[in-house]
Amino acid sequence: MLTGKYQILHKRLKNIIPKNRLFYDDLSLLAFGTDASFYRVLPKFIIRANTESEVRLILSSCSELGLPVTFRSAGTSLSGQTLSESVLVMLDQGWKEIEILNKGEQIRLQTGVVGSDANKRLLALNKRIGPDPASINSAMIGGIVGNNAGGMGCGTVEDSYGTLAGIRLIFADGSLLDTLDPKSRQAFEVSHKNLLDDIVQLRDSVRKNKTLLKRITDKYRIKNTTGYTLKALIDFDDPIDIIQHLVVGSEGTLAFISEVTFNTVHEFTNKATAFMVFPDIENACRAVAMLKKTPVDSVELMDRAALRSVEDKSGMPSYLKTLSEGATALLVETRHDNADELARQVETVLRALESFSLLVPAEFTTNTQEQENFWSVRNGLFPSVSANRKAGTTVIIEDIAFDISKLADATLDLQSLFLKHDYTDAIIFGHALEGNLHFVIKQDFNRQEEVKRYKAFVDDLVHMVVDKYDGSLKAEHGTGRNMAPFVAYEWGQDAYKVMKQIKSCFDQDNILNPGVLINDDPEIHLKNLKPLPVAHPLVDTCIECGFCEVHCVANQLTLSPRQRIVVYREIQRLIRSGESAFLLDQLRAGFAYLGDETCATDGLCSLGCPVDIETADLIKWIREESASFRTVKFAQALANHMDRLTALARFGLNVVHLFHFLLGSALLGGIARGIRVLSGNRIPLWNKAMPRGGKKIKSAPQPENGKPGIVYFPSCINRSMGASRYDADSRTLTEVTMSLLRKAGYHIILPDNLDNLCCGMAFASKGFKEIGDQKANELNASLLKATNQGELPVLCDMSPCLYRMKKTLDPELNLYEPIEFTLIYLAKRLKFEKKMHTIAIHPVCSAKKMGLEEKLRTLAEMCAEQVVVPDNNCCGFAGDRGFTYPELNAHGLRHLKAQLPEACTAGYSTSRTCEIGLSYHSGITYQSILYLVDACTVGID
Ligand SMILES: Cc1cc2nc3c(=O)[nH]c(=O)nc-3n(C[C@H](O)[C@H](O)[C@H](O)COP(=O)(O)OP(=O)(O)OC[C@H]3O[C@@H](n4cnc5c(N)ncnc54)[C@H](O)[C@@H]3O)c2cc1C
Repeated sequence: MLTGKYQILHKRLKNIIPKNRLFYDDLSLLAFGTDASFYRVLPKFIIRANTESEVRLILSSCSELGLPVTFRSAGTSLSGQTLSESVLVMLDQGWKEIEILNKGEQIRLQTGVVGSDANKRLLALNKRIGPDPASINSAMIGGIVGNNAGGMGCGTVEDSYGTLAGIRLIFADGSLLDTLDPKSRQAFEVSHKNLLDDIVQLRDSVRKNKTLLKRITDKYRIKNTTGYTLKALIDFDDPIDIIQHLVVGSEGTLAFISEVTFNTVHEFTNKATAFMVFPDIENACRAVAMLKKTPVDSVELMDRAALRSVEDKSGMPSYLKTLSEGATALLVETRHDNADELARQVETVLRALESFSLLVPAEFTTNTQEQENFWSVRNGLFPSVSANRKAGTTVIIEDIAFDISKLADATLDLQSLFLKHDYTDAIIFGHALEGNLHFVIKQDFNRQEEVKRYKAFVDDLVHMVVDKYDGSLKAEHGTGRNMAPFVAYEWGQDAYKVMKQIKSCFDQDNILNPGVLINDDPEIHLKNLKPLPVAHPLVDTCIECGFCEVHCVANQLTLSPRQRIVVYREIQRLIRSGESAFLLDQLRAGFAYLGDETCATDGLCSLGCPVDIETADLIKWIREESASFRTVKFAQALANHMDRLTALARFGLNVVHLFHFLLGSALLGGIARGIRVLSGNRIPLWNKAMPRGGKKIKSAPQPENGKPGIVYFPSCINRSMGASRYDADSRTLTEVTMSLLRKAGYHIILPDNLDNLCCGMAFASKGFKEIGDQKANELNASLLKATNQGELPVLCDMSPCLYRMKKTLDPELNLYEPIEFTLIYLAKRLKFEKKMHTIAIHPVCSAKKMGLEEKLRTLAEMCAEQVVVPDNNCCGFAGDRGFTYPELNAHGLRHLKAQLPEACTAGYSTSRTCEIGLSYHSGITYQSILYLVDACTVGID
């Protein structure tokens, strides 16, 4: 319930912002209010804003009402800077515009663009954005700039500050400034004269104070995101230039960033990589100092504990296990467009290291696979520690920097601190070239003595970093609430005073993200610690980083995987504590639809998850737990009579098809919607892309002497469903597949008892795991027999079924879905012709998880002049959920139609049910890729 000023704010906004973007119920506040940090502060009111005018209204209203506001983009921050106890403004689905400028020299990005999406657009021009946080596949421009985030290579030159060309800002009073628009600058100079005068005064006072000037210059010789970016007062003369650079790294405390124009950086086409192991940290750090003078682009350091954390993982170099105590690795990479020049760079680097004795010799490779293997050691460190912690505890990843001349001593001191405070399994790694170390500790915040231990450790750390080395307490992750108490200690009182003045120049009433970056509470870093209650072994290792969100079709419709886990954890905590029956009921009731029913269970979330969680597994488990005895019996009866079920489906679909023919799409659509409403959304929704019934496969084809055999397993879906009324090719997929196999000269073998076979996915995804296993076992036995114990390959015509089969059936079976099967078995026996002009393809989730996206494109390009791959996640059809929860499908494909060029006449995929939704939402028809292959090939005699 909203009260007081929040109620007034709601009243002002509700006529402008639709109510499905205004949240104040307990479930939403908890789910959306959580970020990747180890703090929990919940907002009272959440608004998903979609336009600048909405943000301007929100800010001017909040200013007037004195309500604090926090901005959030992807919420992957680690220091507690996207939390709010008042109003949280999240980005809705807008804010995604990208514009390449000056042939790629610059790029204009709206605040909601994910960093890696910007880079995808720049790749063809051999360009990328400068900032390169490890979270770039999730982090959005607003947060990347807001934190001045960095990574392995950007250092202090190519970060947001160093590459900023212009910015559009909205200030606390709702006013807008576009620093690239002369008119906007002029108007701002008039409307905000006082602000500009204050900035000029600050600039001049800092420059006059020689001690402070030197302090600021010295501090930015290394990476630093503690406090405000004071160097803006020195680097720029014009107050508007100073403002735009002060906003970088200001963590939402000075203004809202609407869009940013970056100067891009060159992306080299060739790289050479080496994994070097030194006997001890001193030698490794001395080597880093040498490498700094050579043409290297990144040097990642890993201490012995870090290497130990991954040495048992598959694919790791075997020598890791045999390394002596103290051994330290450097992963070194050098890049150039020209291969000869690259070779010369490698020589220079090796020469620089000649005097070092190494445990593993420095050998550079340009082989992509070997390079990936090296990087997998580095990239596996954080996930490995996170995954191996005790349930109910958290991991803390910290981020400090030193001058590289002090790196060895600082690392040894850090290792001693771990011992002193008993963080025995802490690991250290980091961007050594910049003196930037990350360390990861496992931390239990459930017990007071553990909180005390953390406090003592942080106190010692602060003294070590600041007093002994004059380093940075935050190099790239931002100050947040976590280091706010130590900003003055690190910078000194003069600099801190300037920071406070900056804050009050921009935000006199302190409404923008108060408590973040500047905070007078010396213990704020120990307050509001997030509980991570034990919930379920399938998700207990979740660190709530949010990397899953960009992969989830339900994200921004209902709940993302992170948000599902957050709510599920709280439900479990409430069940155990018995704290609030009312809240528990509310969360459970909300979770049923938001968490369970609208989960597509496609498992794509696991693609982004650093600890390999597939939230879908939790949802399937919940479905299994909640299935009643009666529904289990019903499902079992269906599973035992698949032949009758598929026959019934064929009959039913044909009847509906007849009505479609008689009544037309509009009338039948209207009737279907009416019936669904009357049934309380229990009756599935018909749509005009719904297929007619398939054709029963009558008997196995006769053996054909001399022809190689292929076992064809038509999925139960394709045995039930045929083409739809609007499909270009009205044959069923089973007919097309058989024709194709014959054309390629194969003898087709159908497994015994085909009518009753099913991979079991339809059951398992609804929580009937045992029934799913039963169907998988039956299929396994039948396929082993048909293939003569795995001698012959098996083609299944649906990627999702094949993906499940690969996970559940005997590894002896050689299982293929249409894409790989065509490329391996059909391509060599058929002649391809590019008969199509422009087509679209949709890699379904299972194909993505099997790494088949590029292969699908390759295959489509063998058949068409132009292949379009619209940018979509899972389509949201999710088996039959497209009929029962059509909103999920509509949300998943909301951008599809706009992405298809007019010339695009047909779409292709590898899942019949997904194709129904794709056809319905695209305006063209989607069929299996096998239709395309059949249309574009002739047999080779
Ligand atoms: C596993 C892991 C690894 C990470 N690795 C790195 C790394 O290598 N380097 C690094 O620097 N960081 C790293 N981070 C931290 C974080 O991912 C980055 O700093 C990232 O850039 C934050 O982007 P975001 O979109 O999630 O921003 P958010 O977390 O949503 O916001 C970040 C800050 O910017 C503000 N903000 C957001 N949008 C706006 C806006 N439109 N206008 C004004 N202010 C705004 C917020 O209020 C907040 O203070 C990592 C995080 C995790 C979980």
